[in-house]
Amino acid sequence: MTAILSNLQATRLAIEKAVESAHRGVADVRLLAVSKTFPAAAVREAYQAGQTAFGENYLQEALEKIEALRELPLEWHFIGPIQSNKTRPIAEHFAWVHSVDRLKVAERLSAQRPPHLPPLNVCLQVNVSGEDSKSGVAPEEVVRLAEEVARLPRLKLRGLMSIPAPAADEMAQRLPFARMRAIFGKLNALGMELDTLSMGMSHDYPAAIKEGATIVRIGTAIFGARDYGE
Ligand SMILES: *Cc1c(COP(=O)(O)O)cnc(C)c1O
Repeated sequence: MTAILSNLQATRLAIEKAVESAHRGVADVRLLAVSKTFPAAAVREAYQAGQTAFGENYLQEALEKIEALRELPLEWHFIGPIQSNKTRPIAEHFAWVHSVDRLKVAERLSAQRPPHLPPLNVCLQVNVSGEDSKSGVAPEEVVRLAEEVARLPRLKLRGLMSIPAPAADEMAQRLPFARMRAIFGKLNALGMELDTLSMGMSHDYPAAIKEGATIVRIGTAIFGARDYGE
């Protein structure tokens, strides 16, 4: 058995365990395999093990993999920081974007989404821990941004995403996820019909599932440690 296959099986089992302990259904949590820095061959191997949704952070690297694997029925999710002058290839080549955090980027993605494709699924990235000021909308600004993004014709606002600051144990990990769940509840109480909470990575996905994650984004636990070459 290859490492990717056995890692995927172990990850799926751990997700099931967390889902059960949260009294939720397995169908309520999707696994997004984060393949950044890993070659197309690794994605192909995960696909052969039954994985179809993949997350990428770096646009150029992602576009090369998407092209190399275009004969496979894969669903690509962009999860990295977005430069507003690089929105067109994202609008053209991805099914989902998890990292929308400002209106300008959302407007460009909507305007550039090709007419033959379905609306682009988007999540708003929320800076829930407030420690990384570079990415994510502030929690108190989420409602306004969500209302604006929900009006854009070629986007489908699905929900929220976050990358909380690392925390030592599961109880501490759950706090920012619980805060995300509360913001999500507030948006739905306003009638937004959101269905996606994208939260939880290799080190904290059980905590995220217990607080209502519907997509967990997992890289290291599936593909191994990343090597950035420096
Ligand atoms: C890299 C990355 C992940 C996966 O992280 P792991 O710790 O390797 O599971 C998830 N989400 C985002 C936004 C990332 O950049």
